[in-house]
Amino acid sequence: MLEAIKNTLKEAFPDVKPELAIDARGILTIRGECASWDEAVAVGHLAAQSPEVKNVVNELAVKGQPDFRKDYRPYREMGNKAGRIDTVDVLIVGTGISGCAIARELSKYKLRILAVDKEDDVACGATKANNGNIHPGHDVKPGTLKAKLNLRGNELYTQWADELGFELQRCGVMGAVSDAKLRPLLENAAEGARKMGVSNPQTLDGEQAKQIEPGFAEQGIEPAAAIWFPSMGLVEPYKVAVALAENAVMNGVRFLFNCTVADVLTKDGRVIGAVTNLGIIETSYIINCAGVYADEISAMAGDKCYTIHPRKGTIAILDKSRKPIFHSLAGMLDRGKPKPKKDTESKGGGMCRTPEWNILMGPSATEVPDKEDLSSTPEGLAYAMSLGEAYGIGYGDIIRFFTGTRPADYKEDFFIELSPVTGGFINVGGIQSPGLASAPAIAEMVEGIFVEALAHDGPPLERNPTFNPLREREKEFRHLSHEEQDELIHREPAYGRIVCRCESITEGEILAAIRSPLPPSSVDAVKRRTRAGMGRCQGGFCQPRVLELLARELGKELTDITLRGEGTAILMADTRPNRVGSV
Ligand SMILES: Cc1cc2nc3c(=O)[nH]c(=O)nc-3n(C[C@H](O)[C@H](O)[C@H](O)COP(=O)(O)OP(=O)(O)OC[C@H]3O[C@@H](n4cnc5c(N)ncnc54)[C@H](O)[C@@H]3O)c2cc1C
Repeated sequence: MLEAIKNTLKEAFPDVKPELAIDARGILTIRGECASWDEAVAVGHLAAQSPEVKNVVNELAVKGQPDFRKDYRPYREMGNKAGRIDTVDVLIVGTGISGCAIARELSKYKLRILAVDKEDDVACGATKANNGNIHPGHDVKPGTLKAKLNLRGNELYTQWADELGFELQRCGVMGAVSDAKLRPLLENAAEGARKMGVSNPQTLDGEQAKQIEPGFAEQGIEPAAAIWFPSMGLVEPYKVAVALAENAVMNGVRFLFNCTVADVLTKDGRVIGAVTNLGIIETSYIINCAGVYADEISAMAGDKCYTIHPRKGTIAILDKSRKPIFHSLAGMLDRGKPKPKKDTESKGGGMCRTPEWNILMGPSATEVPDKEDLSSTPEGLAYAMSLGEAYGIGYGDIIRFFTGTRPADYKEDFFIELSPVTGGFINVGGIQSPGLASAPAIAEMVEGIFVEALAHDGPPLERNPTFNPLREREKEFRHLSHEEQDELIHREPAYGRIVCRCESITEGEILAAIRSPLPPSSVDAVKRRTRAGMGRCQGGFCQPRVLELLARELGKELTDITLRGEGTAILMADTRPNRVGSV
């Protein structure tokens, strides 16, 4: 089999002479040198196509390109110097949507659980930089783990939203055509989706499409037929992560931020702890949810079994004055320029909206060698914006653009398993799109793996007798009736002071966030919880006030409050130390 892979690679890439090795588990390791990063990625993809290959460790070096691998030595030194700081049953590495979901799921059991992240808050990786689409599951490769977990995850989101009190809009997604002759193609696609288990796919005639999606009539578009998936949902992804984490905290999970895992300690083939920059954490189980770094954490545990090749995507957010064209996520499949080509494994790439009705354009998809590369390039932005040309959307509508990185492996599937090499180590890797949509099912699957592992390893797992899946959430001030607002201001005058004028966010809401079960410590962390700073002025007016509130409530100096953790100071020093009153 190795010979066959070698020949396939030789034919496609005659100049690359890779050394290949495959183990009994089907982990293929590729070493050697090639001319460009794109070539290295293409070699990895081609090799992964062999059905015998379970996953690919791609160690091809690129001629003349620096080594972007993270140097964990300084973190290890700090941690070893600090010594043991904690002992837990389960250590979760990474507090994106996967880590937060798993933390909450496992809080059903009587366990000491610690979730750590190298950043200063939850949702600082891919989880803060995506489209928030809860995909129905119709456009994922059938037979993959992604397909299975996307379907289940989509279904479970309703229960999550009810229990955790975040907004889920089941807006639906529609693809329409102007030529009735294309209807059989849509019927085939709907039938295919039904067979995959997608919830209620439908084929519509033009009138039905217009009834469900008023945007067509508003735009003067006459669809002849459409395919409709009513289960498509929209969420604010960071709010889901915060809700999960808060509920996990209520149920006994602890979170530790600014904590980088730099090594995994093992004894007799089992996990016994982790070295972090803050010190050593003893544990019997590690659940690796480290996003683009998950392959490195797995290698630390002695199980080098996949490589993450980061694929970045740029998204532009438009001002609310540019109203969404469609109420659902809709588009004409046979109108306008064909979409510029991009990697077919990544989803999205069109125009959608947030639950708050901001249009989102993009994302693009570009393979990059550096996991820290979150730069938004003119090309990436141009790709994202090109998709709105047909609707007169231009750069003047943008209030912000950002770039997130998809943690893709070479099988382009989720890689979730109890390591057969290192006992007590669970990989949750390759969680690219639809990782957000699949998160409830990822948590469910990891719970199953963990319970089974513990049944084998002992001691018996006990239920957490005080587990409460519910997280009470007060309605946002701006969504209350005038009577409700009056009543709230009487009870708590801070709700009568608007801090973020663009989004109408009150001081009361910011204080409630700072006093919540998982208090934010930076300005961006407040933004993720309240929306203060997410409007047209992007924090120009409210940032100083948020900063003051954070400093006052946390008992810190103004200069200690950062935008998003270490190295992002907003105020450098007090230039008028003898003044009376605050800055
Ligand atoms: C542009 C874009 C658009 C997308 N759109 C969608 C969409 O609409 N719908 C959808 O379902 N999916 C979408 N996705 C995919 C989705 O965002 C991801 O699948 C999901 O967020 C992955 O979550 P995660 O928790 O696994 O990883 P992450 O959110 O990346 O979290 C990993 C965490 O691990 C931490 N970490 C890393 N290394 C260490 C270490 N050594 N020590 C401690 N902590 C560490 C990081 O700081 C990070 O917080 C999109 C992704 C992108 C980039």
